[in-house]
Amino acid sequence: MVKKLYYENVYTKEFIANIIEVKEKEGRFHIVLDQTAFYPEGGGQPNDLGKIDDLVIEYVYEENQMIYHVAGQAPAEFQNVKCVIDWERRFDHMQQHLGQHILSACFEKLFDGETVGFHLSTDTVTVDITMENMVPAQAEKIEYLANQIVFNNLHVHQHYPDQEDLKKMPLRKPPKVSENIRIIEVDQFDYSPCGGTHPNYTGEVGIIKIRRWEKMKGSIRVEFLCGNRALKDYYWKNNSINKISALLSIKDTDASEGVERIYNEYNQLKKDMKNLKDQLTDYEADLLYKNSTVHKHTRLLVKMFEDRDINELRILSAKIVSNPDIVVLFGVKHDSKAQMLFSRSKEIDINMNQLFKEVAPMIDGKGGGNPQTAQGGGSDIGNLEGALLAAQQIIKNRYL
Ligand SMILES: [Zn+2]
Repeated sequence: MVKKLYYENVYTKEFIANIIEVKEKEGRFHIVLDQTAFYPEGGGQPNDLGKIDDLVIEYVYEENQMIYHVAGQAPAEFQNVKCVIDWERRFDHMQQHLGQHILSACFEKLFDGETVGFHLSTDTVTVDITMENMVPAQAEKIEYLANQIVFNNLHVHQHYPDQEDLKKMPLRKPPKVSENIRIIEVDQFDYSPCGGTHPNYTGEVGIIKIRRWEKMKGSIRVEFLCGNRALKDYYWKNNSINKISALLSIKDTDASEGVERIYNEYNQLKKDMKNLKDQLTDYEADLLYKNSTVHKHTRLLVKMFEDRDINELRILSAKIVSNPDIVVLFGVKHDSKAQMLFSRSKEIDINMNQLFKEVAPMIDGKGGGNPQTAQGGGSDIGNLEGALLAAQQIIKNRYL
């Protein structure tokens, strides 16, 4: 069996070893050392990374009590190779992992919440706890207790008990394996079977911060951060709050109320703006109706617009044709697009869809609608006015 240096001294960052086996699989080289401090993936903890001599280690896993270090190249030397662990990554995993032990113990002690899941990745750390829900006051209580365990800098022991000793230990959860059971004890506070890597003292975990939680089926998923991750989280959060408070010229402690106030004001302004727009459209509709020409008791409105929103124009034309005697022919010029919108009062018997389809080819246009209203667009902007006038002429000659 390979000597696991990470269990002898968890702080081993560099070591010398001999390569005892190399397997090539699909262009990757799976290297076995006679002793290793590389932690293989397992127990919810990701594998270590690092180097064996000049070889970059991409993945480490355990299989049949052998630990394999995967590299993209074959080793040149087999004796006395120098191995270096990516310590920043490993220490981060140790902080998150012991933080999880502490947090899980607090959930159990305070609210009888059992940990049924643990996920640790480079982005997030979560535990699944058997609680129906959690309120912010409960989360604060848990965080407070967890951080007292950190501040008290308790010793973390590892035990390999026999069955007799195991029975005496107040385990938080039963072990998953039946042999070589390893118990991690946080100085009489928590006993938990685990094969992962943990710092020797709780103080090294640094602050434990619950970020958020969500309800799952019969449990809650709690996202948290420890140590350097919590510090990095504090960086951007502090920056955000400082930016917000500078922008609003308020104290940082009032940032949330400040944003809420602005949000409410913004919604009120949106409402006011909509009312004003409605009033303006009423006024414009009224004006356009009055300025339309009358031909044999039917009013005709031909109007060109520049860069006007077609949805706005639909509302405007709908208001105009709510009068009983008018046909509306709108044209809109955008950068490279010509749009037309034809509409009429329901009392007038002209098929606007048919009319639209008759003149649309003049602007290379497509579109349509129903007998009362039709719209569409084309690319020939230069002919837009001509198309509207042609439509007007058809109405005069054929329908009126
Ligand atoms: Zn652990």
